Amino acid sequence: MTTTRAVLAARVLLALLLLAGSARAQHAPPPAAPHFTAVRAGRLIDPATGSVATDQIILIKDRKFEAIGPKVAIPPGAEVIDLSGLTVLPGLVDTHNHLAITYKVDPERNNYYVTVITDSTPLRAIQAASNGIQMLASGFTIVRDMGNNGNYADTALRQAIEEGWLPGPQIINAGIIIGGMGGQFWPTPEMGIEKHVVYPEYLDADTPDEIVKAVRQNMLYGAKVIKICADCKPWGYTVDEVKLVVAEAAKGGLKVEAHAQTVEGARRAIEGGVWSIAHDLGLDDANHKLMAKKGTFRAGTETPLSLTDHQTAAGFKRDVASLRNAWENKVNITFSTDADYYVPGKTRGEVAIEFIETWKAAGIPARDILRAMTTTGYRCAQTESTRGPIKPGLAADLVAVPGNPLETIDALRDVQFVMKDGVVFKQKGVMTPAPFFHGGPVNGLVR
Ligand SMILES: [Zn+2]
Repeated sequence: MTTTRAVLAARVLLALLLLAGSARAQHAPPPAAPHFTAVRAGRLIDPATGSVATDQIILIKDRKFEAIGPKVAIPPGAEVIDLSGLTVLPGLVDTHNHLAITYKVDPERNNYYVTVITDSTPLRAIQAASNGIQMLASGFTIVRDMGNNGNYADTALRQAIEEGWLPGPQIINAGIIIGGMGGQFWPTPEMGIEKHVVYPEYLDADTPDEIVKAVRQNMLYGAKVIKICADCKPWGYTVDEVKLVVAEAAKGGLKVEAHAQTVEGARRAIEGGVWSIAHDLGLDDANHKLMAKKGTFRAGTETPLSLTDHQTAAGFKRDVASLRNAWENKVNITFSTDADYYVPGKTRGEVAIEFIETWKAAGIPARDILRAMTTTGYRCAQTESTRGPIKPGLAADLVAVPGNPLETIDALRDVQFVMKDGVVFKQKGVMTPAPFFHGGPVNGLVR
């Protein structure tokens, strides 16, 4: 085909496409009338200020909050939900969970090296869907999923929830954890080189080129935050290498979380400009002061002693002291669990909420624990202007409990009501997920 003819053919094709488009537009159905829901809240908590307002009306238009106040007019035909006997608050955030891995006593003796061999990525994606539903039932409307997802089961979960196939929290997912050779594992050569048994749990990135490529791979396959191992090996990442990760991630608009397990590794990550630090092993007083100065978020993952198979007395003492020190230093402390295991008798959401025990042991006031679980969590998850606070224009997510978590944080153990995107997910303590299930991507395709 000559150039002229090719251009002509392209123009004809374009004209036909435009015609087809305008014909479709003429026959598009009229927009559906907005659906209004009015929630009568006996008490409404604003965790940002630690205040409670009584007898409030929360008006929701379709998926978003429309108006909040004592005298909001309820439009005729609006669905009215009576929570006048409950305390309403915004949804909770776990800034560090692993929904697509669940290790257990049987058969792997809680050794997740084994889980990644026994469980396929598709099986782990289905487990993640179930774990996400369990988190939502406990009031967690936002979960940062920080790696260990096989081959991007976390992206699949986020897409499935956002497209409208099933209920679940808003997922901010990390894709595959980036580290120096081996990641968090110490593979044998047979595992690491010949059989690739430890992969895809970790992306090896030892040189600047490999670091750039690893960050780009995660962004290409749907990560919304980048997770690195700062010091999982003695060679770790230097401050300059951390800066390279941060700069490359920024090209895709993403922030970086560093797993740190040594004081020196955490310091390099903080100085390198990461958004958040995972785990408290390297977080001493000096690093907390540096984090407070730079605004670094802290996802300390402080396991309570009550989860007996996953914490020791010495570890708990250290976690409590570190958390207390972070609070005293006014660090941006978030609620984080590192939950990646099965505790018989508990859902993933019940495992997560159990972590309030460590916060109570650290002597942190209930209002500050709640702020970590909400306001600071929204900022860490970067949802504060789209989802989290109960404010007009934001996604209509809310939770209700009988007690007052500003006085007794344990009130959060009894979540009776959950709404996500304006749709009721749990009422009178019972999950009612039917309206969330669809046979197609009702919200459109999501990358
Ligand atoms: Zn973790």
